[in-house]
Amino acid sequence: MTTEIEEPPIVAYLAVEEKSIIERFNADFADTVLMVTRNLGGFPEATDCELVGIDPEGLDSKVTDPAGVHDLRLDFNIPVEVPDHLTSALFDLIERARDASGDTGQTSAEREAAALAAIGTHLTEVVAVSDVHPHLRQITFGGGDLATTFDPVGPDCFFYVLLPPPGRTELGIDQTFTWEAHARMPVEDQPVGAYYTLRAWRPEKAELDIWMVLHGEGDHAGPASSWAARAQVGDKVALWGPRTAFHPPDGTDHLVLVGDETGLPAIAGIIDWMPDGMTATVLAEVAEESERQELPSRAGVDVIWLHREGAEAGTTSLLADAARALPPLPESTYVWGGGESKAMTAVRRHVRNDRGLDRESVALVAYWRHKATTDADVDSE
Ligand SMILES: Cc1cc2nc3c(=O)[nH]c(=O)nc-3n(C[C@H](O)[C@H](O)[C@H](O)COP(=O)(O)OP(=O)(O)OC[C@H]3O[C@@H](n4cnc5c(N)ncnc54)[C@H](O)[C@@H]3O)c2cc1C
Repeated sequence: MTTEIEEPPIVAYLAVEEKSIIERFNADFADTVLMVTRNLGGFPEATDCELVGIDPEGLDSKVTDPAGVHDLRLDFNIPVEVPDHLTSALFDLIERARDASGDTGQTSAEREAAALAAIGTHLTEVVAVSDVHPHLRQITFGGGDLATTFDPVGPDCFFYVLLPPPGRTELGIDQTFTWEAHARMPVEDQPVGAYYTLRAWRPEKAELDIWMVLHGEGDHAGPASSWAARAQVGDKVALWGPRTAFHPPDGTDHLVLVGDETGLPAIAGIIDWMPDGMTATVLAEVAEESERQELPSRAGVDVIWLHREGAEAGTTSLLADAARALPPLPESTYVWGGGESKAMTAVRRHVRNDRGLDRESVALVAYWRHKATTDADVDSE
């Protein structure tokens, strides 16, 4: 029997993601890591710095300078309790290093930070609630800032739905919301929420739909799913976004789209977006046949439905098995997916390692993390 220990969500998150965050920083943001090391780490002559550890309090790295190799510890100034706070704490560190440097240059992560800082917060409210099926709820938001500032981006357009703190009806934030400010709010005042995908947009009515999976019950349902289960017309929300993670390289003529219930709204948007002549294979995992989500019907789109038939979401290898069973892929294929983290990792490993697709041709996004697979991941590493 296992004992459940209450730990901040960031601990479970880092147990799974630390390695890939470190890899991403060392590979994509090496110039930023070096800038921080030189200006904040006390190694102005550093020629190289490799990030080796991230925990909720700070970063560990190995620094090389003319005197040799040194250990460096940098502490965060922002409390990190949930994954989104980590981004704020890292950006805060970079900002402090930039201030200390006295120059106004921009490294790769600073360019990314500038793009994130430009993301807006749009206040709106629930105008309709209906069930697509017993475990999938369509929530329609309408009015407020949707009439003025909201403008969708990308066929997988998503945003963070900010909801009132548990037990409250007021959001307690406005359009000036930032994740830095969120991290500094008392925990009981912090809005909760999760990322969701635009399923339909009716600009003439300033209305949009999202499809929210209703998962778990009682203590096992997350704040967003619990909110969806009791959402009512008039409930206030804010949308932080919009954003896209769908970037097919020029010349892409075939898509492999992989998703469970959470990724299917984006897959519907991508099928709608597909230029004439582009083809797609969709691997779509749902609980059972009655829970298939309606997808746009287009010539050249082949949908393979995979049913869990009683198995819990996030515990099967259906998507990776189906990816392995696909015939050889056309040369200009882009693989996009949204679903449970471990399932996305398994598909990514297959298409990158076995099929040799390059990094730019693959975007498999962890839309959610199954608790049990999180533990299994940790055990196997
Ligand atoms: C870019 C992006 C777009 C997304 N779009 C959608 C969308 O359109 N529709 C949608 O429903 N979801 C979507 N998601 C996924 C959604 O954000 C997650 O499912 C999120 O975890 C839900 O938050 P929560 O507060 O309900 O649960 P959390 O507090 O995050 O988790 C609580 C518990 O529920 C489990 N859990 C979380 N999600 C699921 C699930 N789907 N099935 C079973 N168990 C789950 C977790 O493992 C955990 O044990 C998207 C995610 C991303 C990153």
